[in-house]
Amino acid sequence: LTDSLEAAWSKLKKEDVLTKDNIKEPMKDIRRALLEADVSLPVVRRFVKSVSEKAIGMGVVRGVRPDQQLVKVVNDELVGLMGGEMVGIEFAKSGPTVILMAGLQGVGKTTACGKLALFCKKKGKSVMMVATDVYRPAAIDQLVTLGKQVEVPVFEAGNQLRPAEIAKRGLAEGKKQGIDVIIVDTAGRLQVDRGMMDELKQIKQVVNPTEVLLVVDAMTGQEAAGLVASFNLEIGITGAILTKLDGDSRGGAALSVKEVSNKPIKFVGEGEGMTALEPFYPDRMASRILGMGDVLTFVEKAQEVMVKEDAELMQKRIMEAKFDFNDFLAQTRNLARMGSMSNIMKFLPGMNKVSPQQIREAEKSLKIMESMINSMTPKERADPDLLAKSPSRRRRVANGSGRSQEQVSALVAQLFQMRVRMKSLATMMQGGSIPGMEG
Ligand code: GDP
Ligand code: MG
Repeated sequence: LTDSLEAAWSKLKKEDVLTKDNIKEPMKDIRRALLEADVSLPVVRRFVKSVSEKAIGMGVVRGVRPDQQLVKVVNDELVGLMGGEMVGIEFAKSGPTVILMAGLQGVGKTTACGKLALFCKKKGKSVMMVATDVYRPAAIDQLVTLGKQVEVPVFEAGNQLRPAEIAKRGLAEGKKQGIDVIIVDTAGRLQVDRGMMDELKQIKQVVNPTEVLLVVDAMTGQEAAGLVASFNLEIGITGAILTKLDGDSRGGAALSVKEVSNKPIKFVGEGEGMTALEPFYPDRMASRILGMGDVLTFVEKAQEVMVKEDAELMQKRIMEAKFDFNDFLAQTRNLARMGSMSNIMKFLPGMNKVSPQQIREAEKSLKIMESMINSMTPKERADPDLLAKSPSRRRRVANGSGRSQEQVSALVAQLFQMRVRMKSLATMMQGGSIPGMEG
């Protein structure tokens, strides 16, 4: 991060609401992260605009810092753009499910056929693959080899027939054998061209596929948008498979797919092996895209520093017995930031015996304490003696928070007890000795 951006993020940390001005610089950072992740420019522009509109005027959620909240808006929007939920293969209601694979040459179509075949087989389906790439002799062999590897039959008819004719015969054969899933591999070209599109259209017409999956190489980057658009326009796709995500590509192509075609990415390929196929999870992809432009790392780092500063300051206040209601509130908010009480308790040794009932009680009493602290004036929060000495102040706080005067008195007494206990605990820890444990 450049210094000015770092400053912008640090500044944002201290704001109460996200405004057009205070998100401007951080949004530049996010824009850069997206471009670095190879999201295409028009997609980035629309994205930044929409996130900015959503973020502006948003009050900051309690326990969440504004900069983190902005990152969350960005993350949620990214997830939403990529379809939100994971979407799997749609299987035909009756008859065989036909999956037609499309895509440029070398993107990993044939490999993806084998992977998908294995995936469907594991789901208990019978599978057949059909080889229609008649242009390269090795292409048929490649599919046959993969078929042997995943133990799925391959229908091939040499390279003399037209691809659509082979597909037609393959489908007939599959139907005859009562196969559940028929995966049709096709030939790609180095670039989008008329011949390829016409051929795909013909195949599509004869096999009437349940799924038309566009295979996109994650390294395609900026060009993915145009590519997806032409395939979708020409043949109509039902989804995509993003391959080669095991490389160092940032996955920006994922964002373009959904934006341009409104069709989901169904799988990602993460290696050459037949098991290297994973369902597509939009939230994981969002972190990948964002994580690459060090936005998230920065936010995490900033948070660590802050927690450390907080802790040191707190230590000092404890030693001076100045722990007041503001500190009390800050501590409970720290807890809120870390998650609900029950989540924290789970990780504490010996705490697993605490019943859910007890946890709910503890959370409830913290809320009650907070409501009383909220009814105190800033002066009272910083100087609990004021409350200790004045029954009328305690009455006012009780009325304001809808609690009894006894509850307010108890809270004030508790704070003084905490001061004493915390100080002796801190002294003990600083001295390095625990009473009763020496010698
Ligand atoms: P096609 O021309 O579209 O059929 O592409 P192929 O399936 O023949 O794949 C082209 C090359 O990419 C081959 O060397 C594959 O092993 C490789 N490949 C395919 N998918 C992946 C993937 O997800 N990760 C990696 N690293 N390589 C892949
Ligand atoms: Mg191939």
